[in-house]
Amino acid sequence: MIRAGMGFDIHRFRKGRPLVLGGVEIPHPAGLDGHSDADALCHAIMDALLGAVADGDIGRHFPNTDLRWRNARSLDMLRTVAGRLKRRGARIVNVDSMVLAEAPRLAQHVAGMRAKLAGAMGVPVDRVSVKATTLEGLGALGRREGLAAMAVATVAVAAGADRGRRKSSEKLQRSGAATKEF
Ligand code: MG
Repeated sequence: MIRAGMGFDIHRFRKGRPLVLGGVEIPHPAGLDGHSDADALCHAIMDALLGAVADGDIGRHFPNTDLRWRNARSLDMLRTVAGRLKRRGARIVNVDSMVLAEAPRLAQHVAGMRAKLAGAMGVPVDRVSVKATTLEGLGALGRREGLAAMAVATVAVAAGADRGRRKSSEKLQRSGAATKEF
């Protein structure tokens, strides 16, 4: 069975921080503000992967109240998410993504970002797409107040891979207990 997930993230620019996108440090006068390295592209992809297997979201797995993730490398967090999917029998088929930023221009960094992202997810680089668009000067992103990223992921789940999980939730349902897994 093929399952799809989507993700979105947005961060404000903040001077004095390095700009990290897709695990690549990109020369720019400002980086992104956030608890971790604020790599919005990694975060959008993580949410897409988690969404594909209905396993919550980045805020649940990496709460910003948890000091472990303070200034963490988001590429490492992405590696952790890919490991979660693997453990539950889900194989990443492909990821497509889009960075929405007025600046900086990202074309020359796309190959590097794809390689880093593919490495973290353990998939061939031709399964990972990174695109970029400007905002024609429109809105907060157009005024260069921050940047955003969107991602879609598809994963293959072997038929019956989640049977045990489903059975236990059916049992819970029959017993009238909560069906939520968290
Ligand atoms: Mg984020």
